[in-house]
Amino acid sequence: MKRREFIISSALALGGTALLSGCGKKEVKKSENQVVRRKFGNDEMPLIALGCMRLPMRDGKIDMAELDKMVDYAMAHGANYFDTAYMYVEGKSENAIGEILKKYPRDSFFLADKCPAYLVNSPSDVRKLCEEQLKKCQVEYFDNYMVHNINKNTLSNYRDNNMYDELAKLKQEGLIKNMGFSFHGDPQMLREVIKEHKWDFCQLQLNYLDWEVVNADELYQIADEAGVPVIVMEPLRGGALCNLPEKAAKKLKEECPDDTQASFGLRWVAAKPRVFTILSGMSNFQQLRENVDTFVNYREFTENEVKIAHEIAQVIQSQGAISCTACKYCMEVCPRGINIPAIFGLYNIFKGSTAPNKYFMFTANYAALKEDERADKCIKCGLCSKNCPQNLDIPKLLGDVQKAYEDAEKAMK
Ligand code: SF4
Ligand code: SF4
Repeated sequence: MKRREFIISSALALGGTALLSGCGKKEVKKSENQVVRRKFGNDEMPLIALGCMRLPMRDGKIDMAELDKMVDYAMAHGANYFDTAYMYVEGKSENAIGEILKKYPRDSFFLADKCPAYLVNSPSDVRKLCEEQLKKCQVEYFDNYMVHNINKNTLSNYRDNNMYDELAKLKQEGLIKNMGFSFHGDPQMLREVIKEHKWDFCQLQLNYLDWEVVNADELYQIADEAGVPVIVMEPLRGGALCNLPEKAAKKLKEECPDDTQASFGLRWVAAKPRVFTILSGMSNFQQLRENVDTFVNYREFTENEVKIAHEIAQVIQSQGAISCTACKYCMEVCPRGINIPAIFGLYNIFKGSTAPNKYFMFTANYAALKEDERADKCIKCGLCSKNCPQNLDIPKLLGDVQKAYEDAEKAMK
């Protein structure tokens, strides 16, 4: 049945000419087709949210008309959570989303922003940055505000400058409602960060590929066990999971004809109960509409689909030509503790990826590994290969990955 939109706004009943409320704000035209929501504190959050890292562009600038159309559609369907950050779109994302959202009443949407830990050199910087960001977004408070990108490079900035305490003060004053952090480190670091303080939420990179080949399963489990609600970033792995290698795409089409590649990836993430919203960086109206539709007509992931996701992840991995099965037998004998399966997994994703940001994703994820677990710390003793059921020449392959990483870094300069 064709969807019928109905308008709650009385303004529309008058012909759609008077869409401004008494306070000069535009009322939300609500469709009867609303995205599913999950509880977070006292709020009900939409399960899908608009990530503002990859906004629509035209002639080198943010396409404000397209963004306006996207936001209106999202708001009408209840996808009223927007996530931005200081450095997104070369620092222009905050201004853009603020400019679009200002027409709506503040309590009709959720806005999340992030404090760039790498720019914090003293505790007072946290407040300065937050106030600047509030101004850029033209709001008086952020619903969710987080330490952006805790990783091995920013951990000391975060800790030495008491960023948690500074965020807590902002929360007390009502400048932010909930405080959290986004994370790109290893499981041990996540365990420590979560244990140190009481967080309202954390933001993790979670998708069915990272679950299989890196450590997303461990990261999710740590948050879940600690009872910390999770926001998901990169559910489609920077676009890689909606640009599947041919063989994987064919498999998905055969097994799940009712899904698109994007809907399959998003539904997989949504099946994790600790997740309360999923950020997807959408660059055009078509992508937004497809994602919103996925959560309007939401179907729970089945056990069979979990199995299919696992198989597709394996197909993707196989594109990289390193036939590692992640059994970890090699790690039992490595005197240096090199994280061989994780390194090979990242390389395989990189090789099979057609995503435009594949170099960034590869170098960022590789750099997130602990330094002493990386390929360049291998001493080429060869013990690992003797233990590998796949008979892989592991020291040579580690050298190949290291070179690919260095080449990728050069390619980004
Ligand atoms: S060759 Fe390298 S990876 Fe393999 S066991 Fe020795 S140090 Fe570890
Ligand atoms: S032993 Fe071989 S197949 Fe198993 S994780 Fe190590 S490299 Fe991969």
